[in-house]
Amino acid sequence: MRLRQLLHGVAAQEARDGPIDILTFTGGAFAQNTILGICDDRRTALLIDPGAATAEALAEATRRKLDIAAILLTHAHLDHIEGAALAKETTGAPIHLHPADRNLYENVHSQALAFGVPFTPPPPLDRDLVPGGVLEFGGSALSVVHAPGHAPGHVIFVSASHPFAIVGDVVFLGSIGRTDLPGGDYRTLIDSIERTILPLPPDTRLHPGHGPETTAGHERRTNPFLSPVFSGVRV
Ligand SMILES: [Zn+2]
Ligand SMILES: [Zn+2]
Repeated sequence: MRLRQLLHGVAAQEARDGPIDILTFTGGAFAQNTILGICDDRRTALLIDPGAATAEALAEATRRKLDIAAILLTHAHLDHIEGAALAKETTGAPIHLHPADRNLYENVHSQALAFGVPFTPPPPLDRDLVPGGVLEFGGSALSVVHAPGHAPGHVIFVSASHPFAIVGDVVFLGSIGRTDLPGGDYRTLIDSIERTILPLPPDTRLHPGHGPETTAGHERRTNPFLSPVFSGVRV
């Protein structure tokens, strides 16, 4: 553990890739996880997937005197953008989304109709997330990795030196994202998990869009959907 900390310290210095503290706020009919990521400088924060618990996440950011530098979306299902209008209005931070989910975002009223829930139209998008790109904020860095299947423009955010990833609705503790919504595709999702989740070091903490956090190793060993018996994952 000591060695690991030392190694991480070195990596952080070289890459300005300091640790990010992840705070999770769960709320709404979908029990969605809104994430506040506190960057290494302890002044800058990222709001990721502003859902029904956005007000609580913003209150915590205010209490800690954090400046929200960006609003990052793993994908544009309504439970992950329910609080986007409030987040934008409160912080003015730019909203980032992969372009392949732009259509879902801009037609969120049809998602709301399908689920029978009221919805405040989300504010305009500001920036495209570019797969392979690295987002740097407050002395911390996150890689953008495209992981379609649950939604066409779904991305995950991976920290290179501090083993964690924000995985949205790609994989959950013991489960995987649904693929029956518009733009979803089961085989594509399984391919994404094989390509983006399973190769992560086993102790990589995964912060999903619903439910408790888990690790890449735990899901690899125990997730029934990732067993070759059920899904045909090539291991
Ligand atoms: Zn979703
Ligand atoms: Zn969701």
